[in-house]
Amino acid sequence: MIPYEKARNLVMEKAQVLGKEKVKLLEALGSVAAEEVRSKISVPPFRNSAVDGYAVRSEDTVGEGRLTRLKLLAEQPAGDYYRKKLGRGQAVKVMTGAPVPAGADAVIPLEETEEDDDFVILKRQFRRGENVRAAGEDVAKGTVTIKKGMVLKPPHLGLLAACGFNKIMVYRKPRVVVLITGNELCRPGERLKPGKIYDSNSTILQALIKTSGAELLGLKWVRDELKSLVAALKSAARRADIIITSGGVSVGDYDLVKTAAWRTGAREVFWKVAQKPAKPLAFYELKKGRKSTWIFGLPGNPGAIMISFVEYVWPFIKKCSGLKDFWPREVEAELTAPYKKKRGRLNFVRVRLSQTGNVWQATPLGQQESGIISSLAQTDGLALIPAEADLMPEGTRVKVHLLDW
Ligand code: AMP
Ligand code: MG
Repeated sequence: MIPYEKARNLVMEKAQVLGKEKVKLLEALGSVAAEEVRSKISVPPFRNSAVDGYAVRSEDTVGEGRLTRLKLLAEQPAGDYYRKKLGRGQAVKVMTGAPVPAGADAVIPLEETEEDDDFVILKRQFRRGENVRAAGEDVAKGTVTIKKGMVLKPPHLGLLAACGFNKIMVYRKPRVVVLITGNELCRPGERLKPGKIYDSNSTILQALIKTSGAELLGLKWVRDELKSLVAALKSAARRADIIITSGGVSVGDYDLVKTAAWRTGAREVFWKVAQKPAKPLAFYELKKGRKSTWIFGLPGNPGAIMISFVEYVWPFIKKCSGLKDFWPREVEAELTAPYKKKRGRLNFVRVRLSQTGNVWQATPLGQQESGIISSLAQTDGLALIPAEADLMPEGTRVKVHLLDW
């Protein structure tokens, strides 16, 4: 059994970016930019109107109490281009986003004008530049719009689109295959037969993989049988960067993941961590030439599977995706009740969090056993009770990893 900190370090030192790929903007959502992007154009590309109104020469407009009367030359919706230059005493009707014709230097909002046949009448004086958007005022040509290492969120993708790009180079997301073991499992939606339970881990794992940003290649149910397991691991390893197995990694007669991994040619990085839940957590490397497939053997209890994913698989996937911020978010909180445990293993305690002023309070939930799924649904975070602790009195400050999906 190795300590939790050591297990986490062993996992994380194996996590490396997996290469780059050019993808369509929407596919890049949540990915990390693998290149710097400079705009090749000015945004907006041309001087245009910020309002629906009349493009005029500001020097033609006159002050308080007097009216300006300008000859209307043309009407220009957004998308059109009026080629002539505006002369003295002239105006062109422009809609928001339409180019401001040469010669004009202000746009008068429709609300402040009156039309009189071919003339437009203004009631006040206008300044140069009023309601005119300069070319490149948003993004000057050559500006760095995306920096390498940036996480691409909706506005970043919009910015790239505004600059005319439809693709971007990102770090490739890890490809994951999930293998679900357990002869006792029955799929949700089917009739529950005697001795069977519904498979909740498939759903938990698929949902967690979605939140991690990794690409799920497939999920397969495998019987607790060595041959099937070896075949499933071999087949998954051909395509996947990461294989996640559910169940069958403990010491029972039908816990065959370890033997199967070994038969597949994988090397054990570790098995068993001094933690509760998820003690039998296993991690293997399966070398394929210069590349490797990483196998996470997660214990089958829903509590164990979720906690091991959050603590190990999530950070691993994020680091492989090029993210710098890969650890679970952490706060310090005061226990609102004493917590008693045996020395030797770090405990992940499911807590509810509340806040008074700047201080967080962590209240342990009633049911903490690894087989319990219902309390997971009420958990805000996992309090880390150190391995060497036995009794933590009320008020003890503990680290809490937030479960903010
Ligand atoms: P194992 O790790 O295979 O020894 O399983 C430990 C416990 O988790 C057993 O009570 C299993 O029935 C349960 N379990 C295993 N796989 C799943 C699953 N996919 N969904 C729900 N419970 C499971
Ligand atoms: Mg099992």
